Amino acid sequence: MLSRVRENVRAMAGYTPGEQPRTGDVLKLNTNENPYPPSPTVFEAVRAALTPERLRKYPDPMGQAFRESAGRVLGVDPDGILIGNGSDDILTILTRAFVPEGGLIVSPTPSYTLYRTLADIQGCRFETVPFTEEWGLPDPWPFPDAHLTFVPNPNSPSSTVLPPGDLQRLIDSVNGPVVLDEAYADFASENGLALIKTGKVIVTRTFSKAYSLAGLRFGYGIALPELTSELVKVKDSYNCDVIALTAARAAIEDQAYFAEVRAKILRTRDRLTGELHHLGFEVTPSSANFVWCRHVSGRHRALYESLKERGILVRYMKYPDYGDGLRITVGTETEIDRLLEVLQSLL
Ligand SMILES: *Cc1c(COP(=O)(O)O)cnc(C)c1O
Repeated sequence: MLSRVRENVRAMAGYTPGEQPRTGDVLKLNTNENPYPPSPTVFEAVRAALTPERLRKYPDPMGQAFRESAGRVLGVDPDGILIGNGSDDILTILTRAFVPEGGLIVSPTPSYTLYRTLADIQGCRFETVPFTEEWGLPDPWPFPDAHLTFVPNPNSPSSTVLPPGDLQRLIDSVNGPVVLDEAYADFASENGLALIKTGKVIVTRTFSKAYSLAGLRFGYGIALPELTSELVKVKDSYNCDVIALTAARAAIEDQAYFAEVRAKILRTRDRLTGELHHLGFEVTPSSANFVWCRHVSGRHRALYESLKERGILVRYMKYPDYGDGLRITVGTETEIDRLLEVLQSLL
């Protein structure tokens, strides 16, 4: 039956997620998880939801209670919120809804490599547009007729936000929808929520990074309600379980805890940036919970390997059209101390 697998699926490589070691003592600075625990209120809410009645029955397919909480916190219309099994689920839903087989998906590069995988699965063309030297977007934008344009902001691996004006220019120049992947917007000083009203923009968010819930799998999209009503048709009916919905709602309701954790990460990010600089790295100023750095020696792969041998996992990234570097998640102060100590001994 192998020959009956769709040709585009047989031809594709598949997405390679960051390593998830199954044994304990590894310092994980490779997939941008939050080093701090989720809010204590998440545990209370989940414990309260763990009843035979709640588990026996299907969850709310639309996640109405979550939508209302998120709508209030973000100041958006709850009817425009679409719940997802991680924000990757929302990216899949958007691809299914907007892109025909043989269609076109476009994204800047270097960026999140999942977009190409989504295009491969859909059986459509994927084009990339190099960022400018200053991590902005080129003018004119070369693909105004894409069926979907993915723009992560802040971007990974660069950790940068687009210069003001670049995003607006992109939205003005494309005819199709623009997905603003805001997985890291919680760590930046601005976001694109206000652009939703243009009708062209869908914002995606996740609980995996700022809310310390990567193991839970929960994310959401925000668009105009009339657009969200269309997107709902292509999602799995029960794409989010009752535990995820309960935990996500408790997490977004606890904005005081969120702000506290965020502030700690931003402080450590500044220190990490400065110290890496002293060690001979060129560090891109970060608007996310990770830093993108390149060492004067250019020995990125060797550094990655040596760190790994010493129990520290960072992400080695290599792009055919850009080059390589290290993406390092901002851990706790103690974790970053350990990283810096080992790096110093290696350099
Ligand atoms: C982490 C990440 C996501 C996915 O988050 P999940 O909610 O865990 O699926 C999406 N986009 C980018 C750019 C990310 O780094």
